[in-house]
Amino acid sequence: MHHRQWVIVDSHEDIAFNSLGLGRDFLASALETRKRESSPSFSGIATIGFPEMAQANIRVVLASIWAAACHNPTGLTIKPCYETAEEAYEQGQQQLAYYEKLTSNPYVSIVRTKRALERTTEGEYHLGLVMSMEGADPIVSPENLHEWVRKGLRVVGFAHGKTRYSGGTGQPGPLTPAGRELLLEMEREPVILDTSHMAEESFFEALNLFKGPVIATHSNCRALVPTDRQLSDEMIHAIVKRDGVIGIVPFNKFLSFNWDKTGRLKEGVTLAHVLKHVQHICDLAGGTSNIGIGTDFDGGFGSESIPAELDTIADLPRIAEALLKSGFSENEVSGVMGENWLRVLRNSLPT
Ligand SMILES: [Zn+2]
Repeated sequence: MHHRQWVIVDSHEDIAFNSLGLGRDFLASALETRKRESSPSFSGIATIGFPEMAQANIRVVLASIWAAACHNPTGLTIKPCYETAEEAYEQGQQQLAYYEKLTSNPYVSIVRTKRALERTTEGEYHLGLVMSMEGADPIVSPENLHEWVRKGLRVVGFAHGKTRYSGGTGQPGPLTPAGRELLLEMEREPVILDTSHMAEESFFEALNLFKGPVIATHSNCRALVPTDRQLSDEMIHAIVKRDGVIGIVPFNKFLSFNWDKTGRLKEGVTLAHVLKHVQHICDLAGGTSNIGIGTDFDGGFGSESIPAELDTIADLPRIAEALLKSGFSENEVSGVMGENWLRVLRNSLPT
């Protein structure tokens, strides 16, 4: 049987954090990284590596600049972490510089423009990185946004836990005055607002104030997994209304809510769970054009915590196969695997 090769976009990976924070080599395969790590790291059993991305034909990744706050609601101490805005800025700049350094590999480039996006999706295999910030604290002040954008930042997520700009996961609350100002600065640039991790109050305030493009790079449905980390139906409706895209996260804890008291899942999680989240957004939106994949692979969890059919990121095409099997059309599937994200990027990146 001839298998179609999908153009895949992954809307969230903490590549720089994994390299700088955990000393992982992104250009090595996930399997090599596993061999090198005798005990599981903070991020679990490695799932990402450039060779596996090429194997899956992942053409574009929204690569995060994520500095970890020393004080966060999870209680986890993550190293390195920041106490002050200046430390967050330094750590963010190091990650940005890391992405620039990766482009010394001729098959990796940073996507800053629409033209660069087209180049990375056409012809022989290339990986294009769209730099996206998770938690806006590395932006020291609203005016400082423009320096980041000059250097290539194209997507700004306000929160992880709460930040100096907004409420976040486990730390509810409104936008701060600086957060409202940052949105105004974002409107003067072609910058996309990433709402994943945003507290609900901040989310709706931001959508009212901000007229630019709005997405959620890595979030699932709260109707299925009722925690504030996921999107309520009302939030999904609001993103759909802006023609944004939501990246479904194939992370077991975000897919199923069947946990016991120790936080362990009581059931085996499979791609059927991913399909439930896809179907839920599809039902709310009346179609699949607002659905994408945002794996967050190696973002604090590894192969041990993802659906049974997936081992490394090379297995993402299995999501496409599962979607086809459950009755979605080829067009719908190519949308979910990448085309929907490409639409948003084409409409939002500068020429
Ligand atoms: Zn995240």
